[in-house]
Amino acid sequence: MYGTGLLKGMAITLKYFFSKKITIQYPEEMPKLPERFRGRLYIEFEKCIACGICTKTCPNDVLSLEDARDENTKKKKLISYTIDHQYCMFCNLCVENCPSNCLHFSHDFEMSRYNRADIKEVYHRPPEMDQVPAQVSAPDSGEAPEPSSDLTEDALKKQKKMEALMTALDKNPVKVLSRYVDSEDDAQILAEIIQADRSKAEKLVELMADDQEKARKVAVAFVNKEKKQRQRQTEGGE
Ligand code: SF4
Ligand code: SF4
Repeated sequence: MYGTGLLKGMAITLKYFFSKKITIQYPEEMPKLPERFRGRLYIEFEKCIACGICTKTCPNDVLSLEDARDENTKKKKLISYTIDHQYCMFCNLCVENCPSNCLHFSHDFEMSRYNRADIKEVYHRPPEMDQVPAQVSAPDSGEAPEPSSDLTEDALKKQKKMEALMTALDKNPVKVLSRYVDSEDDAQILAEIIQADRSKAEKLVELMADDQEKARKVAVAFVNKEKKQRQRQTEGGE
């Protein structure tokens, strides 16, 4: 019949006119995002231990960092951290592998910039992080206060512990490392990794002396990455 198509079209229009709106007046109105939405990646600078796992994990080289050795604690400290958002594919690998849980995705999705280079975000070490905490002043007895040697003692203790761990690692790596990974095979792989790369051994020993749980996470991450690389090499050779 003539006009049937028109009536059908009008019916559809009317149906949608009275149904609940699914569009919003962006940017005046902001969308309601799911809790696990992955927007802008950010770092909690103060929590980062500059282990570099995220930079090695990222498949797109989005992340880079600059570190330095702290004179007092002999630990690595983060100097600057760069996130080049334009290459991020929001895969979450860096967040999952960070042993300090300091990488997160925010709900901020408005990342367009006039220039591509402006998308890159560089975090610099805040000066407050290097300030020595003020000492509580002792009642004025007329004598010069004794300098506090707590930090040096702690640093010395830690250094001794690290030296002992490094010696044990050199003597019997598989036995020491099997406490940090799931199997003896993984310990063997980890032993090969740290024998090939002394900086990884130092990093691991530092974590073992500081925080066993973090050491475990880092050890597992090293092993998993090595396994993936070996698998890729095997597949490439076939
Ligand atoms: S989410 Fe994926 S691509 Fe983006 S920085 Fe992390 S590891 Fe790299
Ligand atoms: S993995 Fe985490 S702790 Fe390690 S360098 Fe990256 S952000 Fe820092």
